[in-house]
Parts: sequence; C-alpha cells; structure tokens
Amino acid sequence: MDLVFFGIQGSGKGTQAKTLAAEFGYYIFEAGGELRKIKASGSDLGETVKKYIDNGELVPFEIIMEVVNEAVASIPADQKILFDGIPRDEDQMRGFDQILTNAGREFRCVHILLDKDEAIERIKGRAEIEGRADDADQDKVLRRMDLFVEKTMPVIEAYVSAGKVIEIDGKGSVEEIYERIKDAVS
Ligand code: ADP
Repeated sequence: MDLVFFGIQGSGKGTQAKTLAAEFGYYIFEAGGELRKIKASGSDLGETVKKYIDNGELVPFEIIMEVVNEAVASIPADQKILFDGIPRDEDQMRGFDQILTNAGREFRCVHILLDKDEAIERIKGRAEIEGRADDADQDKVLRRMDLFVEKTMPVIEAYVSAGKVIEIDGKGSVEEIYERIKDAVS
C-alpha cells in the first residue's frame, strides 16, 4: 500500500517522509523537489515553474499532474511509493485518485498536525539551514500556509471521510514524531 503525507509547511512532513521512506523501502515522490528540478533545468517549462514556486503559488494543474503521471508510470507495480506534496487541492485530488486507480495502486494517508503559529516559528529556522528563497520570505511562507488551509485541508477532510487518514500529533522532537508515525503505519 502506498502512503500520502500531509502537513502544513513547517510540520516536519518532508523530513519524516524521507526517514520513513528510507527505513521501509518506499520510493519517495516529492512534488516540490521534482518541480525544483524542472525549475533548475533552465528550459521554458522551468521558467514557467519558477514563477509559481518563487511566488509561493501552486504550479498549474497540467504541469504537476504530468510529472506525477510520468513518475507513477515509471515505477514498478510492486514498488511502494510515498507521495509528499501531492494532492494539494481538490482538482489534483481527482487527478491523483484517477492516476493511482488506473495503475492499480492503493494508498492511505498520514497527516502531521501542527498549529500555524508553531509552524511559522519552525520555518524561520529551516530557511537558514536549507537556503530556500521561498522559505526566507515570510509573506511567501504565509501565502503557502494559507493555500494549505484553504486548498489542501478540504482534500484531507475528504480522505478522512473515506477513512484513509492516520492523524499524527506534530508537536515534539523529530524523533518523537517519527516514533508516532512508525507505530501508526507499521
Ligand atoms: P512546502 O510544502 O513547504 O510549500 P514544497 O517543497 O512541497 O514546500 O513545495 C514548494 C513549491 O512547489 C510550492 O510552493 C509550489 O509552488 C510547488 N508545488 C509543490 N507541490 C505542488 C503541487 N502538488 N501542485 C502545485 N505546485 C506544487
């Protein structure tokens, strides 16, 4: 069964996803990371993607879905995937569900819960460590958090209604949160 990770910016989602994927043999699909690779390529598509990322806006539907589609098509059916950063709105949810169904794949979700104020404090530290321009600009971070609340929360709620979501308390140390996730998914 595949996994889909959710969590507000600063919740530690990316870090936890990487650790879990490495320990349990998931192929990790990180939407933001894939898009940053395209951005860095210098192609016309990269220039388009750059504008959205640098402004903290969602990259257009067709672009991100194509990236997901290609990735899923290239991964063997018996290789579990951990998706990080997709789907982020209800259109993406429909596209994502379709791609996975067509590939005969099933998934459940992990949502790392953290309130916005605590998340903002954590992001400030991350910008310095990772050198990400979109994290250094507080307005862009707040914009991404607003998008999470407005666009991604309805997706999570739909999956909660479908009984697909494991909720994890995101307060505490990285190790504590990792133990909670491991206990819940294994
Ligand atoms: P964060 O979760 O902190 O916003 P990510 O690395 O996941 O960081 O994403 C960085 C940027 O990449 C987003 O602000 C957005 O511009 C783009 N992005 C990532 N995932 C998606 C997606 N599913 N749909 C559209 N754009 C995306």
